[in-house]
Amino acid sequence: MKDQIYDVAIIGAGPSGATAAAMLADAGKKVLVIERQQFPRFSIGESLLPQCMAYLQQAGLESLVTENADELGFQFKNGAAFYCQGQHVNFDFRKKFSEGPGTTFQVKRERFDQLLIQGAANKGAQVEHGVTLTDIDFSSPDFVSLSVTTEHESFDIKAAYVLDASGFGRVLPRLLSLESPSDFPVRQAAFCHVKSDLAGGNFDRNQILITVHPTNPEIWYWLIPFADGTASIGVVGAEQLFAEHDSPSDKLWSKVKEEPYLLEVLGNYEVTRPEQCITGYSASVSRLYGDRFALLGNAGEFLDPVFSSGVTIAMKSSSLVVPLVLKELEGQKQDWENDFSKPLRVGISTFRTFVEGWYDTRFQKVIFYPEQQQQVKEMISSILAGYAWDEKNPYVKESERRLNVLAELCA
Ligand SMILES: Cc1cc2nc3c(=O)[nH]c(=O)nc-3n(C[C@H](O)[C@H](O)[C@H](O)COP(=O)(O)OP(=O)(O)OC[C@H]3O[C@@H](n4cnc5c(N)ncnc54)[C@H](O)[C@@H]3O)c2cc1C
Repeated sequence: MKDQIYDVAIIGAGPSGATAAAMLADAGKKVLVIERQQFPRFSIGESLLPQCMAYLQQAGLESLVTENADELGFQFKNGAAFYCQGQHVNFDFRKKFSEGPGTTFQVKRERFDQLLIQGAANKGAQVEHGVTLTDIDFSSPDFVSLSVTTEHESFDIKAAYVLDASGFGRVLPRLLSLESPSDFPVRQAAFCHVKSDLAGGNFDRNQILITVHPTNPEIWYWLIPFADGTASIGVVGAEQLFAEHDSPSDKLWSKVKEEPYLLEVLGNYEVTRPEQCITGYSASVSRLYGDRFALLGNAGEFLDPVFSSGVTIAMKSSSLVVPLVLKELEGQKQDWENDFSKPLRVGISTFRTFVEGWYDTRFQKVIFYPEQQQQVKEMISSILAGYAWDEKNPYVKESERRLNVLAELCA
């Protein structure tokens, strides 16, 4: 590590880091991934969207997921179910406007992330765990110098290009003062894993279940089944809606107990992974790239968990960044604004519109409208399936206007 100059150093071995590493290694580049944690390690973000299967395919990692799905407990997923005060609505992702995969999986991230980074290593990326980036220096014109620490020592690594895939670590935004406040209020999520056969309430385990709180539409729950008989359950709401001194367990179960339908689906359950909370996860940056670096996935922007868009956005960022880095490494200057930042922000902005519409209830009105036209439903289904960059879809191209019109019609 110390005596080499890498083509690309990637900080973080989550989905964005692993997919970028796999594509760069496939292109014959000398890639180093540094990851501060030992894998397997837990991460939140367990429900994938069909769109991300296309990015996994592009990275040459899709078959690893599909061929090992049963063995790894990855749950087949073909849609999203929504529940609110006795109303059930299902979106089948196979019936969607955009072309592309219509199914995916719900995954335990410790297994999923390990599988992907191992796949990147098998393609030739050097992956070093237990290595934490602490500082970065762009002063040399010949290479970027990354200061890292391990359990035993501190040293520098050299690379021509750096990709920050550090997720909520947000290393480069912090070091380079790129952080900018998110437009979203501070929300909190409390969650855990349970063992349950989820046999109640006619629940279809091939779909994620999103449930709206019976009296406060700003609070919602996720239920994400895995194929090994366990499931992830979580509740999300504005920070002040949770009692400050409650334990994560009290925060989660006091809210779950307010929704009888969820209790019915859960039936008898046993907590298999302890309750925990995450607060204030929404984040933004002033720019997504700069001299010899770019930000991937959550290191750049994170909106909100409600539509499970995080991993898809993370992989989309890798799929856009890699061709540009390859050309930069050949000495060809790239138009990062028009070829990376703007295209990435198309999907982010689509999701943003629908996330805002979810919390101010415009989108909830659309989702629960009983007589939705099939064509409109397929366009919405496309977005929920992650096809937020497909500008042929009017709800992508003009998301704010279209959502407003539809919400008025459905009100
Ligand atoms: C409550 C909640 C629920 C969510 N649910 C979903 C969901 O259902 N579906 C979905 O798609 N997304 C979901 N997300 C979002 C999802 O967790 C992230 O978008 C996704 O993990 C981002 O991937 P990434 O590769 O950018 O970063 P990460 O997966 O966070 O990986 C970053 C890696 O970088 C490493 N790292 C950090 N700092 C350093 C450092 N200094 N040096 C070296 N390594 C470092 C970390 O250890 C980590 O392994 C959810 C998020 C929240 C908050």
